[in-house]
Amino acid sequence: MEIIFATSNIHKIAEIDAIFKEMHCNSYKLLSLNDVGLNDLFIDETEDSIEGNAELKASVVYKLTGIPSFADDTGLEIEALGGKPGVYSSRFAGENCDDSENRKLVLQLMKDFPDALRTARFKTVIAYVNHGKTKLLEGICKGKIIKEERGKNGFGYDSIFIPEGYKLTFAEMEPHLKNQISHRSTAFRKFVNYLLSE
Ligand code: IMP
Repeated sequence: MEIIFATSNIHKIAEIDAIFKEMHCNSYKLLSLNDVGLNDLFIDETEDSIEGNAELKASVVYKLTGIPSFADDTGLEIEALGGKPGVYSSRFAGENCDDSENRKLVLQLMKDFPDALRTARFKTVIAYVNHGKTKLLEGICKGKIIKEERGKNGFGYDSIFIPEGYKLTFAEMEPHLKNQISHRSTAFRKFVNYLLSE
C-alpha cells in the first residue's frame, strides 16, 4: 500500500525510511511529496497546537491525493516558560527569525532560572490520515535547557538541550545516538508499530 510522508525535508524522509527498513515494514511503499508531484506545496501552519498543525498537513495532502498520508510537527516545551516556545518553536523570535535567534531568546528569557527550573521536553506528534480518519502518535524526549550553547551538530535548539540521562547536548552527540533517543525517532517508531498492527 502507498503512503505519503507530507514533508519536503529530505533528512526526515531518510530517517523514517531507515526505520521502515529496520522494522521490516515492507507492506507499505513510502512516498514523498516529490514523488506525487507536490514538491511546491506550501501549507501554512495556522493551528495553535502541535497536534493541529500535524493533522492539518496530513489532511491537506490526503485530500489532494486520496492516498493515506502522515505528517509530523515538533515543538520544544519549557516548563518554566509555561510550555513555550511549543507550537511556535520555529518562529519564537519572530516570523522571519533563524534558529540562532530562537536559541538566544530562550537563553535570555531563562538567564535567571536555577538548574532545578530548567526542565524542558521536545514533543513530536505524527498525524496519520486514512479514509478521512486521523490517528495521532506522540514522541517525547525529556531534558533540560543549559545556560550557554554547546556543540556544533544538529539544528534548532540542539545546542542548548541535554536529554535526561546524558551529559552531552544533542548538538554534541553523534547524530546516530540522537536519532536513537529523540522525540522524532520515538514518534516514528510508534507510528511504524501502529502501521504493522493495522
Ligand atoms: P518541525 O515541526 O520539525 O519543523 O520543528 C519545528 C521547530 O522545532 C524547528 O524549527 C526547530 O526549531 C525545533 N526542533 C524540531 N526538532 C528539533 C530537534 O530535533 N532538535 C532541535 N530543535 C528541533
